[in-house]
Amino acid sequence: MDAVMVMGNSHLFMGRNNKLAVIASHLQESRLLFPGKHWRSGDLSGESSIVESNISGSKDGKYELLTAANDMIAEDIKDLMTKSTEMKGQRTDTMLAGSLAKALCCIFYKTIGCLAGQEVKSRILVIKAAEDSALQYMNFMNVIFAAQKQDIIIDACVLDTDSGLLQQACDITGGIYLKIPQVNSLLQYLLWVFLPDPDQRTHLNLPPPVHVDYRAACFCHRNLIEIGYVCSVCLSIFCNFSPICTTCETAFKISLPPVMKAKKKKFKPMF
Ligand SMILES: [Zn+2]
Ligand SMILES: [Zn+2]
Repeated sequence: MDAVMVMGNSHLFMGRNNKLAVIASHLQESRLLFPGKHWRSGDLSGESSIVESNISGSKDGKYELLTAANDMIAEDIKDLMTKSTEMKGQRTDTMLAGSLAKALCCIFYKTIGCLAGQEVKSRILVIKAAEDSALQYMNFMNVIFAAQKQDIIIDACVLDTDSGLLQQACDITGGIYLKIPQVNSLLQYLLWVFLPDPDQRTHLNLPPPVHVDYRAACFCHRNLIEIGYVCSVCLSIFCNFSPICTTCETAFKISLPPVMKAKKKKFKPMF
Protein backbone atom coordinates (compact mmCIF):
# COMPACT_ATOMS: atom_id res chain seq x y z
CA MET A 1 0.00 0.00 0.00
CA ASP A 2 2.92 2.34 0.73
CA ALA A 3 4.23 1.84 -2.79
CA VAL A 4 0.78 2.52 -4.24
CA MET A 5 0.45 5.71 -2.20
CA VAL A 6 3.88 6.95 -3.31
CA MET A 7 2.84 6.28 -6.89
CA GLY A 8 -0.44 8.18 -6.38
CA ASN A 9 1.38 11.09 -4.72
CA SER A 10 3.90 11.23 -7.56
CA HIS A 11 1.10 11.32 -10.11
CA LEU A 12 -0.58 14.25 -8.34
CA PHE A 13 2.77 15.98 -8.12
CA MET A 14 3.70 15.58 -11.78
CA GLY A 15 1.23 18.19 -12.94
CA ARG A 16 -1.15 20.55 -11.20
CA ASN A 17 -4.02 19.39 -13.37
CA ASN A 18 -3.45 15.73 -12.62
CA LYS A 19 -6.27 13.96 -10.84
CA LEU A 20 -6.29 10.71 -8.94
CA ALA A 21 -8.89 8.17 -7.93
CA VAL A 22 -8.06 4.96 -6.03
CA ILE A 23 -10.46 2.02 -6.06
CA ALA A 24 -10.05 -1.12 -3.97
CA SER A 25 -11.32 -4.33 -5.51
CA HIS A 26 -12.24 -6.94 -2.92
CA LEU A 27 -14.11 -10.23 -2.81
CA GLN A 28 -17.60 -8.80 -2.58
CA GLU A 29 -17.07 -5.10 -2.89
CA SER A 30 -15.31 -2.55 -4.97
CA ARG A 31 -14.84 0.65 -3.04
CA LEU A 32 -13.71 4.11 -3.98
CA LEU A 33 -10.90 4.78 -1.48
CA PHE A 34 -9.94 8.16 -2.79
CA PRO A 35 -11.56 10.65 -3.13
CA GLY A 36 -13.68 8.95 -0.48
CA LYS A 37 -16.98 9.86 1.11
CA HIS A 38 -15.32 12.39 3.44
CA TRP A 39 -14.17 14.45 0.50
CA ARG A 40 -16.12 17.65 0.12
CA SER A 41 -18.12 18.81 -2.89
CA GLY A 42 -17.36 15.72 -4.94
CA ASP A 43 -14.21 17.33 -6.26
CA LEU A 44 -11.52 14.87 -7.30
CA SER A 45 -8.40 16.28 -5.62
CA GLY A 46 -9.20 19.96 -5.92
CA GLU A 47 -7.10 22.28 -3.79
CA SER A 48 -10.05 24.39 -2.70
CA SER A 49 -11.77 21.48 -1.01
CA ILE A 50 -8.73 20.50 1.01
CA VAL A 51 -8.55 23.95 2.59
CA GLU A 52 -12.18 23.74 3.64
CA SER A 53 -12.00 20.25 5.08
CA ASN A 54 -10.97 19.82 8.68
CA ILE A 55 -7.77 17.89 8.12
CA SER A 56 -5.12 19.03 10.55
CA GLY A 57 -2.52 19.54 7.85
CA SER A 58 0.85 17.93 7.51
CA LYS A 59 3.33 17.71 10.34
CA ASP A 60 6.41 17.09 8.26
CA GLY A 61 6.07 19.87 5.72
CA LYS A 62 4.47 17.58 3.18
CA TYR A 63 1.92 19.01 0.75
CA GLU A 64 -1.43 18.79 2.58
CA LEU A 65 -3.25 17.22 -0.34
CA LEU A 66 -0.90 14.24 -0.27
CA THR A 67 -1.18 13.80 3.50
CA ALA A 68 -4.95 13.91 3.29
CA ALA A 69 -5.03 11.48 0.38
CA ASN A 70 -2.73 9.00 2.12
CA ASP A 71 -4.63 9.16 5.42
CA MET A 72 -7.91 8.63 3.63
CA ILE A 73 -6.66 5.65 1.63
CA ALA A 74 -5.03 3.98 4.67
CA GLU A 75 -8.11 4.47 6.83
CA ASP A 76 -10.53 3.15 4.24
CA ILE A 77 -8.47 0.10 3.34
CA LYS A 78 -8.17 -0.76 7.03
CA ASP A 79 -11.94 -0.51 7.30
CA LEU A 80 -12.43 -2.69 4.22
CA MET A 81 -10.02 -5.38 5.41
CA THR A 82 -11.42 -5.62 8.94
CA LYS A 83 -15.00 -5.85 7.67
CA SER A 84 -14.19 -8.61 5.23
CA THR A 85 -12.36 -10.91 7.64
CA GLU A 86 -15.57 -12.88 8.16
CA MET A 87 -15.63 -13.92 4.54
CA LYS A 88 -13.38 -16.93 4.45
CA GLY A 89 -13.11 -19.41 1.69
CA GLN A 90 -11.01 -20.60 -1.20
CA ARG A 91 -12.02 -17.81 -3.52
CA THR A 92 -9.44 -15.14 -4.19
CA ASP A 93 -10.98 -13.54 -7.27
CA THR A 94 -12.20 -9.98 -6.80
CA MET A 95 -14.80 -7.71 -8.31
CA LEU A 96 -12.34 -6.50 -10.92
CA ALA A 97 -14.85 -5.92 -13.72
CA GLY A 98 -17.01 -3.83 -11.38
CA SER A 99 -14.02 -1.84 -10.20
CA LEU A 100 -12.98 -1.10 -13.75
CA ALA A 101 -16.51 0.03 -14.54
CA LYS A 102 -16.35 2.29 -11.50
CA ALA A 103 -13.05 3.70 -12.74
CA LEU A 104 -14.63 4.45 -16.12
CA CYS A 105 -17.48 6.23 -14.34
CA CYS A 106 -14.97 8.35 -12.37
CA ILE A 107 -13.26 9.30 -15.62
CA PHE A 108 -16.55 10.06 -17.33
CA TYR A 109 -17.67 12.19 -14.39
CA LYS A 110 -14.42 14.13 -14.57
CA THR A 111 -14.64 14.52 -18.33
CA ILE A 112 -18.13 16.04 -18.36
CA GLY A 113 -16.98 18.52 -15.70
CA CYS A 114 -14.37 19.88 -18.09
CA LEU A 115 -14.76 22.81 -20.39
CA ALA A 116 -15.68 22.09 -23.99
CA GLY A 117 -12.66 21.60 -26.17
CA GLN A 118 -10.47 20.68 -23.22
CA GLU A 119 -8.83 17.32 -23.77
CA VAL A 120 -8.76 14.85 -20.91
CA LYS A 121 -6.24 12.06 -21.12
CA SER A 122 -7.10 9.24 -18.78
CA ARG A 123 -5.68 5.90 -17.91
CA ILE A 124 -6.35 3.10 -15.50
CA LEU A 125 -3.67 1.13 -13.69
CA VAL A 126 -4.68 -2.24 -12.28
CA ILE A 127 -2.40 -3.58 -9.55
CA LYS A 128 -3.48 -7.17 -9.22
CA ALA A 129 -2.66 -9.80 -6.63
CA ALA A 130 -5.80 -11.91 -7.00
CA GLU A 131 -6.78 -14.73 -9.31
CA ASP A 132 -8.60 -14.21 -12.59
CA SER A 133 -12.31 -14.82 -12.57
CA ALA A 134 -13.66 -16.36 -15.76
CA LEU A 135 -17.16 -15.72 -14.35
CA GLN A 136 -16.67 -12.01 -14.99
CA TYR A 137 -15.43 -12.57 -18.53
CA MET A 138 -18.36 -10.93 -20.30
CA ASN A 139 -18.56 -7.88 -18.03
CA PHE A 140 -14.81 -7.56 -18.17
CA MET A 141 -14.66 -7.55 -21.95
CA ASN A 142 -17.52 -5.03 -22.15
CA VAL A 143 -15.59 -2.69 -19.84
CA ILE A 144 -12.44 -3.10 -21.91
CA PHE A 145 -14.21 -2.26 -25.16
CA ALA A 146 -15.87 0.74 -23.50
CA ALA A 147 -12.41 1.94 -22.41
CA GLN A 148 -11.03 1.37 -25.90
CA LYS A 149 -13.82 3.47 -27.39
CA GLN A 150 -13.03 6.34 -25.02
CA ASP A 151 -9.25 6.10 -25.71
CA ILE A 152 -8.57 5.14 -22.11
CA ILE A 153 -5.43 3.09 -21.60
CA ILE A 154 -5.47 0.16 -19.18
CA ASP A 155 -2.12 -0.77 -17.62
CA ALA A 156 -1.65 -3.84 -15.48
CA CYS A 157 0.95 -4.53 -12.83
CA VAL A 158 0.57 -8.14 -11.77
CA LEU A 159 2.05 -9.33 -8.51
CA ASP A 160 1.13 -13.00 -8.45
CA THR A 161 -0.13 -15.29 -11.23
CA ASP A 162 -0.41 -14.10 -14.84
CA SER A 163 -3.80 -12.81 -15.87
CA GLY A 164 -5.08 -13.64 -19.34
CA LEU A 165 -7.94 -11.17 -19.03
CA LEU A 166 -5.65 -8.27 -18.16
CA GLN A 167 -3.23 -9.21 -20.94
CA GLN A 168 -6.12 -8.79 -23.35
CA ALA A 169 -7.19 -5.54 -21.70
CA CYS A 170 -3.72 -4.02 -22.04
CA ASP A 171 -3.27 -5.27 -25.58
CA ILE A 172 -6.62 -3.91 -26.75
CA THR A 173 -6.29 -0.49 -25.09
CA GLY A 174 -2.55 -0.02 -25.77
CA GLY A 175 -1.40 -0.22 -22.16
CA ILE A 176 1.52 -2.00 -20.55
CA TYR A 177 1.14 -5.44 -19.00
CA LEU A 178 3.89 -6.42 -16.61
CA LYS A 179 4.17 -9.28 -14.16
CA ILE A 180 6.81 -7.99 -11.81
CA PRO A 181 9.61 -10.41 -10.93
CA GLN A 182 10.02 -9.20 -7.36
CA VAL A 183 7.22 -7.84 -5.22
CA ASN A 184 9.61 -5.94 -2.93
CA SER A 185 10.66 -3.76 -5.84
CA LEU A 186 7.03 -2.86 -6.64
CA LEU A 187 7.60 0.85 -6.15
CA GLN A 188 10.43 0.94 -8.65
CA TYR A 189 8.28 -0.68 -11.32
CA LEU A 190 5.37 1.63 -10.55
CA LEU A 191 7.50 4.76 -10.83
CA TRP A 192 9.62 3.77 -13.81
CA VAL A 193 7.19 1.81 -15.94
CA PHE A 194 3.67 2.93 -15.06
CA LEU A 195 3.99 6.53 -13.92
CA PRO A 196 5.16 8.01 -17.26
CA ASP A 197 2.24 8.96 -19.50
CA PRO A 198 1.87 7.42 -22.99
CA ASP A 199 3.72 10.32 -24.67
CA GLN A 200 6.75 9.91 -22.42
CA ARG A 201 6.70 6.15 -22.82
CA THR A 202 7.76 6.36 -26.44
CA HIS A 203 11.14 7.71 -25.24
CA LEU A 204 11.67 4.97 -22.69
CA ASN A 205 13.10 1.52 -23.02
CA LEU A 206 10.25 -0.37 -21.39
CA PRO A 207 9.86 -4.13 -20.85
CA PRO A 208 8.92 -5.89 -24.11
CA PRO A 209 5.24 -6.71 -24.70
CA VAL A 210 4.13 -10.10 -23.45
CA HIS A 211 2.57 -12.90 -25.41
CA VAL A 212 -1.15 -12.38 -24.99
CA ASP A 213 -3.32 -15.26 -23.88
CA TYR A 214 -6.35 -14.62 -26.08
CA ARG A 215 -8.45 -17.45 -24.79
CA ALA A 216 -12.12 -16.64 -24.33
CA ALA A 217 -14.50 -17.98 -21.71
CA CYS A 218 -17.35 -20.11 -23.01
CA PHE A 219 -20.78 -18.68 -22.23
CA CYS A 220 -22.09 -22.02 -20.99
CA HIS A 221 -19.56 -22.96 -18.28
CA ARG A 222 -17.24 -19.90 -18.15
CA ASN A 223 -14.24 -22.07 -18.88
CA LEU A 224 -11.36 -20.55 -20.80
CA ILE A 225 -11.18 -22.37 -24.11
CA GLU A 226 -8.93 -22.19 -27.15
CA ILE A 227 -11.26 -23.76 -29.70
CA GLY A 228 -15.02 -23.55 -29.49
CA TYR A 229 -18.25 -22.90 -31.34
CA VAL A 230 -19.27 -19.32 -32.11
CA CYS A 231 -22.87 -18.29 -32.80
CA SER A 232 -22.89 -16.63 -36.20
CA VAL A 233 -25.63 -14.22 -35.09
CA CYS A 234 -24.60 -12.91 -31.65
CA LEU A 235 -20.98 -14.17 -31.48
CA SER A 236 -21.56 -16.07 -28.23
CA ILE A 237 -18.93 -18.71 -27.57
CA PHE A 238 -19.70 -22.28 -26.56
CA CYS A 239 -17.46 -25.21 -25.73
CA ASN A 240 -20.04 -27.74 -26.96
CA PHE A 241 -22.23 -27.70 -30.01
CA SER A 242 -25.87 -26.97 -29.39
CA PRO A 243 -28.45 -26.61 -32.16
CA ILE A 244 -30.02 -23.54 -30.50
CA CYS A 245 -27.95 -20.58 -29.27
CA THR A 246 -28.75 -20.06 -25.59
CA THR A 247 -28.04 -16.33 -25.83
CA CYS A 248 -30.04 -15.21 -28.85
CA GLU A 249 -32.11 -18.36 -29.35
CA THR A 250 -31.19 -18.72 -32.98
CA ALA A 251 -31.86 -22.19 -34.29
CA PHE A 252 -29.16 -23.38 -36.61
CA LYS A 253 -29.85 -25.30 -39.73
CA ILE A 254 -27.44 -28.14 -39.53
CA SER A 255 -26.34 -29.55 -42.81
CA LEU A 256 -25.48 -33.09 -41.95
CA PRO A 257 -23.21 -34.90 -44.33
CA PRO A 258 -25.39 -36.60 -46.98
CA VAL A 259 -26.11 -40.15 -46.00
CA MET A 260 -24.89 -42.50 -48.65
CA LYS A 261 -27.70 -44.71 -49.78
CA ALA A 262 -26.66 -48.24 -49.92
CA LYS A 263 -26.90 -49.27 -53.52
CA LYS A 264 -28.91 -52.31 -54.08
CA LYS A 265 -27.18 -54.72 -56.21
CA LYS A 266 -29.27 -55.59 -59.11
CA PHE A 267 -28.99 -59.03 -60.22
CA LYS A 268 -29.13 -59.13 -63.88
CA PRO A 269 -29.84 -62.29 -65.58
CA MET A 270 -26.64 -63.46 -67.10
CA PHE A 271 -28.01 -64.24 -70.44
ZN1 LIG B 1 -18.87 -24.33 -21.86
ZN1 LIG C 1 -26.51 -16.45 -30.71
